[in-house]
Amino acid sequence: MTKTEIETDYLVIGSGAMGMAFADVILSESDKQVLIVDMHHKPGGHWNDAYSFVTLHQPSSYYGVSSKELSKGRIDQTGLNKGLNDLATGPEVLSYFDEVMRHHFLPSGRIQYFPMCEYNWDGTFTSMLSGETVTVKVREKTVDATYLKTQVPSTHKPNFEIADGLPFVPLNELPKLKRRHSGYLVVGGGKTGIDAVLWMLEHSIPADDIHWVMSRDAWLMDRGNTQPTEEFFDQTMGAQAAQFEAIAQSTSVEDMFDRLEAAGVFLRIDKNVRPKMFHGATVSQAELTELRKIKNIIRMGRIQRIEPDKIVFEQGEMASDPDWLYVDCSARAVGNMEEAPVFQGDQIKLQTVRTVQPVFSAAVIAYVDLNYPDEAEKNRLCTVVPLPNHDTDWLRMTAAFMTNQFNWSQDKTLRAWIGNNRLDGYSHLARNVDKEDTAKTAVLQRLRDNSMPAMMKLQQYIAELPA
Ligand SMILES: Cc1cc2nc3c(=O)[nH]c(=O)nc-3n(C[C@H](O)[C@H](O)[C@H](O)COP(=O)(O)OP(=O)(O)OC[C@H]3O[C@@H](n4cnc5c(N)ncnc54)[C@H](O)[C@@H]3O)c2cc1C
Repeated sequence: MTKTEIETDYLVIGSGAMGMAFADVILSESDKQVLIVDMHHKPGGHWNDAYSFVTLHQPSSYYGVSSKELSKGRIDQTGLNKGLNDLATGPEVLSYFDEVMRHHFLPSGRIQYFPMCEYNWDGTFTSMLSGETVTVKVREKTVDATYLKTQVPSTHKPNFEIADGLPFVPLNELPKLKRRHSGYLVVGGGKTGIDAVLWMLEHSIPADDIHWVMSRDAWLMDRGNTQPTEEFFDQTMGAQAAQFEAIAQSTSVEDMFDRLEAAGVFLRIDKNVRPKMFHGATVSQAELTELRKIKNIIRMGRIQRIEPDKIVFEQGEMASDPDWLYVDCSARAVGNMEEAPVFQGDQIKLQTVRTVQPVFSAAVIAYVDLNYPDEAEKNRLCTVVPLPNHDTDWLRMTAAFMTNQFNWSQDKTLRAWIGNNRLDGYSHLARNVDKEDTAKTAVLQRLRDNSMPAMMKLQQYIAELPA
């Protein structure tokens, strides 16, 4: 860095998946310049800190940036994702973003990239290595691609006490284990907890040696219902239709969740425990079968303290052994749940505008910013789809998702742009149906017939929810 002041059209803070997906659309759809600043040394954000055995939990074909495919275009032949579309591993995701940066963004001459630099939130950023500070003169927008504050176990501090000297590690350390421990305590019932348990079972740790702390059980999504390729039409679009039917026909929130489960939209690990959490974690049926092998599930609320011979929970205690290994999976993937308007004058705060689809959302936001002059209209088209935490957050999330889908469908140009964007998940399955195919058109008809009644039911339940 030699200049102390640089000009750009867009300043993007964060080269994680969302910042990259946003910059990619600006590059493809305009002649604007973009400056990207990030504290990591490579693009990909939290994937730089992830555990070595991490994979996407949704198909690769709709992750990454719009202009470059990530999927290898194949169905997995082995493993717990067998029979489903491929899931990129963490290293594959990182190498993909590196390729996008080095071979697409930088050669364009319109993207400047400043890794290992911290943005100071005052129009300047500072090199973490040289200490040099640069002022950025932004002609158009400053884009906060850090807003969701993604957390992963290796960069997070647990919110409970751990006695000195106990082997308490993030799940990143599992592949480095050299010996058997007398027991393993996995802390966290979300996606990383699931990944830790699956890794341990795959590597021959007996299910009975694993203790799994689940302060709340979660509703899970079936990955088989999120498949973007034609052979999965019935399952994927059928699940969408079944979802709207279940909502529309339900008589209460509890009945709605029961119907969603019966329809195969939601899964849970233990049929006898009603989940209170929904984070959008997605599993295959084979993974679910594995997870159900764990019988030592501890449901005594959150951990307060881990002592050498016992663990103290909100609702009780359990004996442990000093030789146990404690595996931290307690990081909440999204650290910031506070919704804010996406467009605020010369600032953009990247958030999800489609259910658990961060990269698609960032791409749509970029397109809307380039093509719509009015801020109120931009925010209407990019209404935030709140990230869920509690089970009932699913109601607000789904209602906001349906509202955005409807608004997009009413705007012919935007609808066409989304339809041609590869990050548009599995929606193309519905668009490409041959009108003569009566079985498929029947599925789409169920979807259409139930969408308005489902929306009304969601609004009713949301109004009845306690504040
Ligand atoms: C294990 C796991 C699996 C997932 N699988 C999927 C999936 O299959 N499909 C899917 O759609 N989503 C998936 N997600 C979610 C998705 O990956 C994340 O939501 C998304 O990648 C978040 O990207 P981001 O750009 O918002 O944040 P981040 O990846 O956290 O990037 C933010 C970047 O901002 C930088 N930064 C922060 N502050 C500053 C500052 N002051 N100055 C400079 N730089 C700064 C950070 O260094 C970081 O690189 C998964 C998430 C996890 C944890």
